[in-house]
Amino acid sequence: MDVYGLIGNPVGHSLSPVMHEAAYDELGLDAAYVTFEPAPDHLRTAIDGAAALGISGLNVTIPFKQDVLDQVLPDETAADIGAVNTISFEDDRVRGYNTDAAGARRALSHHGVDPSGKQVVMVGAGGAARAIGYVLARAGSHLHVANRTVERAEELASFLDASAHGLPALPELVPEAEILINATSVGMEEDRTPVPPELLHGDLTVMDIVYTPLETTLLTAAERAGARTIDGAWMLLYQGVAAFEVWTGRTAPVDAMNRALRSGLGEERS
Ligand code: NAP
Repeated sequence: MDVYGLIGNPVGHSLSPVMHEAAYDELGLDAAYVTFEPAPDHLRTAIDGAAALGISGLNVTIPFKQDVLDQVLPDETAADIGAVNTISFEDDRVRGYNTDAAGARRALSHHGVDPSGKQVVMVGAGGAARAIGYVLARAGSHLHVANRTVERAEELASFLDASAHGLPALPELVPEAEILINATSVGMEEDRTPVPPELLHGDLTVMDIVYTPLETTLLTAAERAGARTIDGAWMLLYQGVAAFEVWTGRTAPVDAMNRALRSGLGEERS
């Protein structure tokens, strides 16, 4: 049996096991996906131990995505972003990938959205924003980063060759935007939006990466304004799809993974 898993702290509410095991069932693979929650100062031993035990692959989440970099051979995307969320244990190498970036790219393309040459406002400048912004910058978007802490927006914008703003600039930025992305945690388990609803309009695509709830206050307001919406489960799905494909070399059963993920999210909310 091939063993895959997730390493992070905490990992208790992760939907990755449900999503990946649906893929193994669909394709009849003899594989399992388990979660590991080592103490932060045991990361190094945990990765060495996983390699020694013959574990095939690990997803990596908070707080290990940056710290694990010096234990893997990162691909270009992971090295550029400075964070790894997928590890593949190969015969003689431990390789690192950032499938959050692929997840964002594929979430957009699944909905027929090509960010190339588009005016994009991304709210947030944390870890997820870095991966998403990397994809947008590589695609040739005109990218504007707006964040509560302006210094973090400036740091990220200089990495991405984007413009940097505080949240008070949103009334100037959003009316001109074609794509709006919420890459903050605002709206998670709360009835708040990082962008005032009156700024939203029908020429926008609004992607929220918050997925609890799936229908965030921002997305409800975006739908009301006539915008196209992409919920946070799409990026989560496609980062898992990309990890599956790195590990197995097979095309992922996207529909089965999507069904399992959305039913897991529904159950979590009830
Ligand atoms: P992070 O590195 O901690 O960054 C958090 C971001 O949210 C920062 O930009 C922060 O602004 C902003 N923020 C937090 N509270 C705020 C508030 N009250 N008002 C305005 N801005 C606020 O976290 P992350 O890893 O990037 O994750 C961000 C969210 O994305 C989380 O909800 C996470 O679950 C979700 N996520 C989803 C996916 C997916 O696949 N769908 C993937 C990764 C993450 P400051 O810089 O000012 O603190």
